[in-house]
Order: sequence, then C-alpha cells, then structure tokens
Amino acid sequence: MKKVILTGDRPTGPLHLGHYVGSLQKRVELQQSYETYILIADMQALTDNAEHPEKVRDNIVEVALDYLAVGIDPKVATIVIQSLVPEIAELTMYYLNIVTVARLQRNPTVKTEMKQKGFGAHVPAGFLVYPVSQAADITAFGAHLVPVGEDQLPMIEQTREIVQDFARIYQPVLVEPEALVPKVPRLPGIDGQNKMSKSLGNAIYLSDPPDIVARKVKGMYTDPKHIHVDDPGTVEGNPVFSYLDAFDHDTDVVSAMKQHYRAGGLGDVTVKKRLIEVLEGFLEPIRRRRSEFAKDPAEIMRILREGTMKGRTAAGRTLANVRRAMHLDYYQD
Ligand code: ATP
Ligand code: MG
Repeated sequence: MKKVILTGDRPTGPLHLGHYVGSLQKRVELQQSYETYILIADMQALTDNAEHPEKVRDNIVEVALDYLAVGIDPKVATIVIQSLVPEIAELTMYYLNIVTVARLQRNPTVKTEMKQKGFGAHVPAGFLVYPVSQAADITAFGAHLVPVGEDQLPMIEQTREIVQDFARIYQPVLVEPEALVPKVPRLPGIDGQNKMSKSLGNAIYLSDPPDIVARKVKGMYTDPKHIHVDDPGTVEGNPVFSYLDAFDHDTDVVSAMKQHYRAGGLGDVTVKKRLIEVLEGFLEPIRRRRSEFAKDPAEIMRILREGTMKGRTAAGRTLANVRRAMHLDYYQD
C-alpha cells in the first residue's frame, strides 16, 4: 500500500511562486509514489473571509487551474473541495474538545497572522481554531506526509499532538503525520516581507502575464543601502537573490552575481533583468498549460467532483474509526 500525502491551499487567490517552491513542486514530484490528496480549503479560507464568500468561490477554479498547470495529474492525484466533505467538519468538532484555548493562542503562525490581519479583540472564533480543522484535514485522509512551507510547521506539530492525545484518551486510530519542508522553506514577498502571501499583496502569481511579472520584479525591494551601482550591496535578505536561488538553475552565474553585488559594481537593474528572464523561462510553459485547461471549465468541474467524491469516501472511513474509538457507534452496524 502506498503511503498518503495530504496538502492543500486556501482559495483566497491564484497560487504564486511561494506555493510552488513551498509545496507544489514536491507534490508534483511525489504524486506517483504516494497516494496524493490535495485539498482546496474553502472552509479555512472563510475563517478570515466570511464576508467575501464569492472571492472564495471564484478562486476554487483558479487554484484548480494552477494545480493542473504545474503538472498535478488528476489521474493519480485527488483534488478535493473541503466544504463538500462534511466528515472533516465533524472530526474538527471532536478534536476541539481535546485542545485548549491557551494552546491555540500559543500557535506562532496563528499569532503572526492575527497581528497581520489586524483583528484586535475581534478574532473570528473559526480563525483561532483553524489549526484544529487542519488537523482534521490531515488525519481525515490518513496522511503520513505533508509537504508544506515553513509557516505550516506549527500546524503539523499541533496535528501530531492531537493524534497523540486522541490515542491516549480513546484509541490509536489516527495516523501521525510528518512535515516535508523543501529546500526553500519560505519565499519572501516582492516587498521584502518575510513571506510571499496572497493576503499580503506581495506575490508574483503563476498566472501573471509577462508584463506584470516584469513590472513586479522592477519594483522589487532590494538592499536599501545599495544606492549607487558602485556601492557594496547585501545579498542576505535581498528577495531578488532569494528568487534567483530558488529559480535560477545556473548556480555558478548566481554565485558570481552575488560576489559582484557584495563587492560593488553590479546594479539592481542588471540583477533584476536576469531574474525576469529566469522567471519567464519558468512561467511561460505554466501559463500556456493553464490557458489550455481554462478552455474547458466543464472538465475542471468534473475533476473536482470526482476527486471530492473519492475524498469523501476516504474521510468517511476515518470518521467511522474515530466514532468507534469514542464509543459513538450507537447502532453498531
Ligand atoms: P493566505 O494569505 O490566504 O494564507 P498563502 O499565500 O499563505 O495564502 P496558503 O494557501 O495559506 O497560501 O498556503 C498553501 C501552502 O503554500 C502552504 O503549504 C504554505 O506553507 C505554502 N506557502 C505559501 N506561501 C509560501 C511562501 N511564501 N513560501 C513557501 N511556502 C509557502
Ligand atoms: Mg496562508
């Protein structure tokens, strides 16, 4: 039996370069050797978008197109729409009783995001508990491995705790997952913020047309002290170099550029020109495949419907085991 992978994305916008290096690349690489479930987490997206359900709805197709464009193969990988698997919501309710509010408030990613979103005292309850619903996502499919960016490590940790606590209180029926963090664990934003994110408006999308990509790169944050071409520049924390590290296959050219930049004499314009070329080489085929798939919306819906049905079956098996472990199998048949 193949081991299981689960990952997902919030349909809050199309996917970006950060998703690619943080998770998509590994999913494509591993989809043949693992049973792969990919969750479009619309319920989780609603935890901070309750007033914009149309945004969540519209982005389901965008995210699905991005998957297909980067090479997710719906014949081997199962794409599931979260809200159409109510078993996940039910698991969430059971898990919530074995997690404390204090533990949730300590989750570093949730803490950072609450600050970024400026909730103040008005944190939606669903947002605070989203790590628990993520634990339900992961365990519903019995995932052994979760390929995620670094920001998600606290979620996997919390999931492992829930699995262990569930085993201690009831029975060991859940699979304890492990995170798979890639070589580039966190891609910074074009504004220099430490994470490229849909919600922060600092992303280069996989579907951005060439002129937008060029404009975004030209406007990218670099070393603010590197004012004149001859000034020595800093490479660390300079997102232009982080992107070259992630996407430029010619590592010799990149290290030569870094050396030159540090010494002084290499202008930001030149480095950015290189980055635009590198990104175009990467994005052009993705864009082309995306527009091919976009021609047939009915086929996308068929893929989503079929994947979701298969996902429900898997989640239903876990839920039955959970209910039995909790002695909630009242009718016993
Ligand atoms: P939102 O702002 O709505 O939360 P997001 O851009 O953070 O969106 P998610 O859908 O929350 O994207 O993340 C999906 C997956 O992509 C997660 O595994 C996450 O770790 C990964 N990921 C997202 N952004 C980055 C990034 N900048 N670098 C590395 N991985 C990332
Ligand atoms: Mg996120």
